[in-house]
Amino acid sequence: MDSGFSAHARTLLDAIEADGLSKREQVLQGPQGGVVALSGRDAGTVVNLCANNYLGLANHPDIVAAAQQALARDGFGMASVRFICGTHSLHRQLEQAIAGFLGKADAILFGSCFDANGGLFETILTDQDAVISDALNHASIIDGVRLSKAQRYRYTNGDMDELEARLKAATDSGLRFKLIVTDGVFSMDGHVAKLPEICALAERYGAMVMIDDCHATGHLGAGGRGTPELTGVGDRIDIISGTLGKTLGGAMGGFIAASQPIIDLLRQRARPYLFSNVLPPAMAAGALKAIELAAAADDRRALLLQHVQHFRAAMSSAGFELVPGNTPIIPVMVHDAGKAQALAAEVVRRGVLVSAFSFPVVPKGQARIRTQMSAALTPADVDTAISAFVDAGKALALI
Ligand SMILES: *Cc1c(COP(=O)(O)O)cnc(C)c1O
Repeated sequence: MDSGFSAHARTLLDAIEADGLSKREQVLQGPQGGVVALSGRDAGTVVNLCANNYLGLANHPDIVAAAQQALARDGFGMASVRFICGTHSLHRQLEQAIAGFLGKADAILFGSCFDANGGLFETILTDQDAVISDALNHASIIDGVRLSKAQRYRYTNGDMDELEARLKAATDSGLRFKLIVTDGVFSMDGHVAKLPEICALAERYGAMVMIDDCHATGHLGAGGRGTPELTGVGDRIDIISGTLGKTLGGAMGGFIAASQPIIDLLRQRARPYLFSNVLPPAMAAGALKAIELAAAADDRRALLLQHVQHFRAAMSSAGFELVPGNTPIIPVMVHDAGKAQALAAEVVRRGVLVSAFSFPVVPKGQARIRTQMSAALTPADVDTAISAFVDAGKALALI
């Protein structure tokens, strides 16, 4: 019995469309890369500026080969959650490789980082504890915090005075454990969390620190070890969550790396771990190879940084408003959602794939095109992208 719900859903969809907020899928017909084949386009390939393929490993031949070998040797699926009979030796190898890469005692895999963040807070915190979360944190952190019974505190993005006020309030309330939670890199703005200040406050108030380093692990910091390395806080971060779906091969899978007791507790209690399958062995084999490649990829990190600096300089001098920063996430601010969609469409028409982001992904009035640099791009690809933006921006009288 539909009870008229489909008609109701249609009305909601019409309203989303009327607000210019509809999201449409771009369908690729080949592998992810610096240039990709888009379905339904005569022109063939486009330069891709919106993948999280920061080191360009998504279609690396060594990763494909490692996954193919494991597929042939270890089969397709495990047909079980981890603790019954779904743990393959490749899963344990991958967990140890992640822990080693990030300098933690151990790590635990999840089907995604969304699941990792979904399972973390309710497992380690109770209503006697406090979680203090940056207002711009990823949706998976917000949802994970909602699932926990911990007392919730929120601070304005990067506002250290507010963070301190929340720490004081939690302390005054006599709460037992306090956990500060932040994205390492804020995915819509591309700036890095103020980890040295956060760690100093954590020490002053006896709090733990957890970061979600999805947009950093593999490409930021020395050896690609992420924002703790980049900001010099090293092992002062207690818990790190991350993804295998971005820099580290780009397939799927998430993880948490932390001290042994925290990881052991997650293995006993984290619901996405207990009640959901993890990535299959072949993907674990690919991710293992990706970590090995990423650890040794100083050349790719240097090329990525070169692209970031060139694209930023050229776009700024052409008159575009960029969010300041120096990560490979470079948002081109348009503010108006309709104009952002129009600019994206014009840039795509010129052979460069970009995506406009508007409410609810970013606040109202802050619509933007989030561009992302990648070591899969050549310097010529980056120049193609700059020309496309400049042409399209002029055609729409935005610059
Ligand atoms: C992408 C992302 C996630 C989700 O990662 P998946 O592994 O795709 O679920 C979580 N947190 C942040 C900050 C992200 O950017």
